Amino acid sequence: MTLNVVFLPGDGVGPEVSDSARSILEATVAKFNLDLSMQTCAFGGAAIDSYGDPFPVETQQACLSADAIFLGAVGGPKWDGAEKRPESGLLALRKTLDVYANLRPVQVLSGMENLSPLKPDLARNIDILIVRELTGGLYFGDRTEGDMSASDICTYTRAEVQRVARIAFRAARERRGKVVSVDKANVLATSRLWRSSVIDLHQSEFADVELEHMLVDAMAMKLIQCPAEYDVLLTENLFGDILSDEASVLSGSIGMAPSASLGDGTRGLYEPIHGSAPDIAGTGKANPVGAILSVAMLLRHSLEVPEAADIIEVGVQQAIKAGYGTGDIGGQDSTQNFTEKLIALL
Ligand code: NAD
Repeated sequence: MTLNVVFLPGDGVGPEVSDSARSILEATVAKFNLDLSMQTCAFGGAAIDSYGDPFPVETQQACLSADAIFLGAVGGPKWDGAEKRPESGLLALRKTLDVYANLRPVQVLSGMENLSPLKPDLARNIDILIVRELTGGLYFGDRTEGDMSASDICTYTRAEVQRVARIAFRAARERRGKVVSVDKANVLATSRLWRSSVIDLHQSEFADVELEHMLVDAMAMKLIQCPAEYDVLLTENLFGDILSDEASVLSGSIGMAPSASLGDGTRGLYEPIHGSAPDIAGTGKANPVGAILSVAMLLRHSLEVPEAADIIEVGVQQAIKAGYGTGDIGGQDSTQNFTEKLIALL
């Protein structure tokens, strides 16, 4: 059966890191003899320019019939203040695909501790997976907007909490078997529901996984104080947004971090966590590692070829150990050079 991957390069450095991601996927297809078709569609600001819509119908249809979607990045000053914004395409894409769990691994590779803003002994052995709820909570609740008062409503249902918690517990079983569920149960009603829903699911389906609960303010502190102690962090949309950006810089550059957004089934949306970086777009300075590691996640979760994902992840570690890399991690390579060197290694 032919597997179908849709590429949405987007804006700024998006097309540059997408090219790298695609070259790595092509190299993997050849090595593993995969039956794969790849298609590129307009998305974000580029789609506003050509279709007047950040998420045109043609792109929607292609994404809905894909096995996996790779996204570069969207946005940029050109569309700031415009009536239609590229970022609205991103929310619509996540909603259309019903990807409710955002997975962000954060790893400090051995020998790269000096790139972390933390002292090297704190940065050593950091290997965290953040699982963030992506389609509920404050960002999707009813809101009122006024000059004198405003409100955003945060709602969660037990089913919404348990479906994302299930993904976190399953991921923990494949890793070091520990989940910390992050909430603000001392203050918020939604957090108390969150906690009791996680506890019930843990008792009924995942008693073999170690579970701890932590308040979000304490977690923000612990991520700086002792990040290497944590395995899987599970949290709701707003807390996850903040904690995952905090955690992403632990590895030294935002250009290194991949992500996967998953729902039911194997289809997923894969993207580096960085934005369109308009300040370096077109200069060849963009670090493609976040995009390349997103392809590894795509191979593992959606195409179900974990051995291909392993090879890419090990290859990236070897390439960086060998001193290859873009300027943001202290290397001399352009985006394309690094990608070519990695392909040669693979
Ligand atoms: P950004 O992530 O684009 O850039 C922040 C800083 O990190 C910049 O200095 C940039 O040069 C650097 N950087 C980012 N990616 C890099 C890479 N691969 N290699 C090396 N350095 C890299 O965030 P921003 O500047 O706040 O936002 C720029 C635009 O991107 C905005 O329009 C924003 O809305 C959009 N954005 C999009 C996404 C997305 O597509 N998922 C995410 C965040 C921001």
